[in-house]
Amino acid sequence: MSNYETLEYDVLVIGAGGAGLRAAIEASAAGVSVGLICKSLLGKAHTVMAEGGIAGALGNVDDRDNWKVHFADTMRGGQYVNSWRMAELHAKEAPDRIRELEAWGAVFDRTPDGRILQRNFGGHRYPRLAHVGDRTGLELIRTLQDHGIHQGIEVHMEHTVVRLLRDSERILGAFGYDRDRGRFKVFKSKAVVLATGGIGRAYKITSNSWEYTGDGQSLAYQAGAELVDMEFVQFHPTGMIWPPSVMGILVTEGVRGEGGILQNNRGERFMFAGIPEAYKAQTADNPEEGWRYTQGDKNARRPPELLTRDHVARCILEEVKAGRGSPHGGVFLDISWIREKIPHAAERIQKKLPSMYHQFMQLANLDITKEPMEVGPTTHYMMGGVRVDAETQMSSVPGLFAAGEVAAGLHGSNRLGGNSLSDLVVFGKRAGEFAAIFSRESGGKNINDAEIESAAREALAPFERGTQASGENPYQLQYDLQNMMQDQVGIVRRQEDLLRALDGLDTLWKRAQKVAVRGHREYNTGWHTALDLKHLLTVSEAITRSAIERKESRGGHFRDDFPSRDAAEGKVNIVVYKGEDGSMQVRREPIAEMPEHLKAIIAEMK
Ligand SMILES: Cc1cc2nc3c(=O)[nH]c(=O)nc-3n(C[C@H](O)[C@H](O)[C@H](O)COP(=O)(O)OP(=O)(O)OC[C@H]3O[C@@H](n4cnc5c(N)ncnc54)[C@H](O)[C@@H]3O)c2cc1C
Repeated sequence: MSNYETLEYDVLVIGAGGAGLRAAIEASAAGVSVGLICKSLLGKAHTVMAEGGIAGALGNVDDRDNWKVHFADTMRGGQYVNSWRMAELHAKEAPDRIRELEAWGAVFDRTPDGRILQRNFGGHRYPRLAHVGDRTGLELIRTLQDHGIHQGIEVHMEHTVVRLLRDSERILGAFGYDRDRGRFKVFKSKAVVLATGGIGRAYKITSNSWEYTGDGQSLAYQAGAELVDMEFVQFHPTGMIWPPSVMGILVTEGVRGEGGILQNNRGERFMFAGIPEAYKAQTADNPEEGWRYTQGDKNARRPPELLTRDHVARCILEEVKAGRGSPHGGVFLDISWIREKIPHAAERIQKKLPSMYHQFMQLANLDITKEPMEVGPTTHYMMGGVRVDAETQMSSVPGLFAAGEVAAGLHGSNRLGGNSLSDLVVFGKRAGEFAAIFSRESGGKNINDAEIESAAREALAPFERGTQASGENPYQLQYDLQNMMQDQVGIVRRQEDLLRALDGLDTLWKRAQKVAVRGHREYNTGWHTALDLKHLLTVSEAITRSAIERKESRGGHFRDDFPSRDAAEGKVNIVVYKGEDGSMQVRREPIAEMPEHLKAIIAEMK
């Protein structure tokens, strides 16, 4: 028996964002004991940052909306490499999960007749995003947290898991430490739900919080689970680009949903040029129609600013490359122009986009009700992640579940805005439900002490090297990795850059073996950064290897040397797993044939 404090649960949930909280609530409601671990304080998870809304075909604003349209939009947005079963479950179950949030106390914006209001967002055919101004994530997390704390869930805040523990058959728990004192703890559990979010901190420019270091993807991979779709990283088209200290912070798509337009330095609305064939029939061909759409005219089609994120991000890059960019290397996003169209425009902007108004006022000294913003692409979301079963969310390791951004499948090659928050509650619930069932069916097992000791030794190794002259600084390594990923595995990819990145990763892995940390374990952020590096390097390698393998352009993955979609490539997913010799392996796997009734929906919605 190890000497470390040991806690025991039926279900252990790692991550307290929307997915983790929803999973913990569901497991607890099933009557099993639940432990919940998070790196930050409860309520501070990245979900709190979500702005624009949660997608679900409630049909409150446009009654033509239903699960079938939402399903078809999600598949089209993901360019058909999504798990069609996850897309189907998500579209069918999201409305109930949103109504459930309302019943638990979420105060959504309302329609004049008192129903949940829904707004337009990129790639959604009808207004579909339930929202609370532009602070939807805060409301979602507050509601789940309030609901969850009455369920008897034991919460371990400011704890980091550094290794999953398993035997040859199934998952047995996790090993971690508390971030303030640095004390190790063993969490014994019959089932584990990973809900650790994304990987944005692998890149230099990102909208993601400090927590997004790819821990869950890497922990799962190291424990023998498969990752899928790792080449599909979403670069959101509109991040702040000026001043430099705020580069990457998100400018919500809600700005464009409320009528914001994109312009180049000649004042041209460049998005009208080059609307993709697949979207032509659904896209306005003139600004007037686009404006009417944003104001709720059911006979109008969406403006091209509301096309999918991958497309809009590339159009912005093209403008910049052609010398038509804004002074600081982006383009202009203008919502102030709506004063030409409506009275009291400034009040409307402040009411519908309060966070954006304050964000620009405070961080850039710019009044968005009067002037355009400067924006450019920012690393935003990871479509890829842990490969899970669509119904249960169980990974390829028995007893290990994953939900939310850390899991893959729903979004295919590109996520639609608003489909993440609904993903969290739909699949968070499922993960909690099936983890509880799994735990009931599994007996208790002992964890091998040698495994625990090996995890502790690995975690302490940076201190052992603390006095060595050859020691590497963890911050420098993280910085070098972020720069390399941004330049060589970013929005536009080429074979030679990707191969160079693989070499670079090899060097960085070697340098990571020499990372050294001084001082002791209490409040040591250098140590925390040193431990994050393994995760950042693992996900970066998975992204790079998968990007080399997919020789076409699709969604978030754009290959300059293979600029078109390839029908054959569209029939496979790229799977990453740990080989027997410990090296990273890549496999192509055919996508299961879609059943006829779902094919018919897609054909009907074209
Ligand atoms: C600025 C911004 C705006 C967005 N707006 C929207 C929107 O309007 N609509 C939408 O649908 N999506 C939006 N998204 C995306 C969405 O917010 C995220 O995809 C989603 O919140 C992820 O939730 P999650 O539960 O998977 O993870 P998170 O909310 O990130 O939670 C992860 C949890 O895991 C914990 N954790 C991580 N690693 C460890 C570890 N090793 N040990 C212990 N705990 C760990 C963290 O502490 C945290 O508690 C937005 C994203 C950003 C950045």
